[in-house]
Amino acid sequence: MDYDVLILGGGIVGCAVAYELSKYNINIALIEKDYDVANDVSLVNTAVVYDGSETSDYVMAKLENSGMKLIQKHCEKFNLPYKRVGALRISSNDSGNKRLDIMYNKANERGILGVHLIEDNAIYDIEPNLKIKAEKALYSENIAVISPYNLAISYAEVAADNGVNFRLEEEVIDIKNVSKGFKVTTNKNKFTCKFVVNTIPSEIFAGRYVEGKNEVINKKMNYILFNENLDNYINSVIINDIDEDAFVINIPTASKENLIGIKGYDFLSLEDGLQLSKSILQDVKKEVVMNIFTETYSKGNTLIDDNKIQDGYIKVTGSHYSKITIAPAIAEKIEESLKTNMNITKKRDYVDKNREMYTFKNMSKEQRNEIIALDSRYGNIICSCNNVTEGEIIDCIRRPLGARTVEGVKRRTGIGLGSCNGSYCKMKIIKILAREMNESPLSIVYDSMDSKVLVSRIKEFNEI
Ligand SMILES: Cc1cc2nc3c(=O)[nH]c(=O)nc-3n(C[C@H](O)[C@H](O)[C@H](O)COP(=O)(O)OP(=O)(O)OC[C@H]3O[C@@H](n4cnc5c(N)ncnc54)[C@H](O)[C@@H]3O)c2cc1C
Repeated sequence: MDYDVLILGGGIVGCAVAYELSKYNINIALIEKDYDVANDVSLVNTAVVYDGSETSDYVMAKLENSGMKLIQKHCEKFNLPYKRVGALRISSNDSGNKRLDIMYNKANERGILGVHLIEDNAIYDIEPNLKIKAEKALYSENIAVISPYNLAISYAEVAADNGVNFRLEEEVIDIKNVSKGFKVTTNKNKFTCKFVVNTIPSEIFAGRYVEGKNEVINKKMNYILFNENLDNYINSVIINDIDEDAFVINIPTASKENLIGIKGYDFLSLEDGLQLSKSILQDVKKEVVMNIFTETYSKGNTLIDDNKIQDGYIKVTGSHYSKITIAPAIAEKIEESLKTNMNITKKRDYVDKNREMYTFKNMSKEQRNEIIALDSRYGNIICSCNNVTEGEIIDCIRRPLGARTVEGVKRRTGIGLGSCNGSYCKMKIIKILAREMNESPLSIVYDSMDSKVLVSRIKEFNEI
């Protein structure tokens, strides 16, 4: 057999599984069709970590609660931000108040600590910048925000450092049973393995291609990102239910912006979006809008289907709005499943640590001077919105599973996510990528094979 375990898909779930399994003396590869892992995580590098109190489903609640505890532990280990901001689900009418009572009782039944029902002034004591009317709120102290790319990339880097073979740009096109295992065919290779952990949304088996499960409810989520000039920055996650199907959510991002998500409508115009945003951020104006975008919001349960574990096949099915939160809990369950079905032992030389990364913008003056003395490229600011240096870009390209696309550099360093939206730094990123990869700037892509950034050379500039 070529591998003991093949993990299909390099989203946050695949990366978390690779991390958990890399502790063992087994031969593992992860197959991902894109240029980079965790390509589909999110458009903004901020995700909410849920605690299991908001969902009506008991199984999802359990996964969320254990995922939350694991993410907190992993962020500490990998030196990643884990901001416990708390969440207030507010209401100002009877039906909303009743919904909060039900949610509170469920949280208690589930044994989730740190969840409270509060009223009137107690709400504004927690969030003084909230200017809208709220009678009652379900307050969860546990809710946190994290940078999901950095978490997914850290899982992948540690797994790669511990021997997992990441096969990027390979698309799985077929999986077949063979004696004591599987044959997995990609657009480039054929591999045999004893176990398959399939995290890709579609099912591809013996030539049959089945799209992701259709019990999933897909809705549009409209987002508006407000910059740091917004009056009354809100520090907590705030959820204001409009009715049973629609809500507005405020998420404080890792870089002090407020992200408003609006669920329950199709594509909203900026004007309509701003109007709905006022149900949380009363004073919003067009001038402080940094970005608008729409994503598909899914509400279908995520399950670990290990019915075929005796044959060596595990499939993670379904998509869910809290899949980042539950990713490490899914990985732990898969690890347990494999441990009982495979004779595996732990590695003695396992290194459960990611390589250090220097973030110039978070460093003190002394630390900055120290690193510039070691490498002068840390003194060359490439992104003046977010203070990202040439040194950080080079490091993110040279790391294990380093960035090879403009989007990959953006996600690892935060470059281009400032108020200029990359207009001042994109060319510089392309130039550094081309130099580090020893390629022509014309071959650098934005994120996927068919997304070349420069179409052609129009003049013989010496610079590029
Ligand atoms: C609008 C929105 C907001 C969200 N906010 C949050 C949040 O705040 N908190 C939270 O916990 N979660 C959140 N989520 C959920 C979360 O972002 C995603 O559900 C999660 O990233 C999915 O991870 P995954 O690994 O399951 O799937 P994916 O990221 O889709 O990974 C699957 C991977 O498989 C690869 N692939 C597909 N087909 C093939 C093939 N044939 N061969 C090889 N590779 C293949 C894909 O390229 C992809 O990289 C949000 C989701 C959305 C849409």
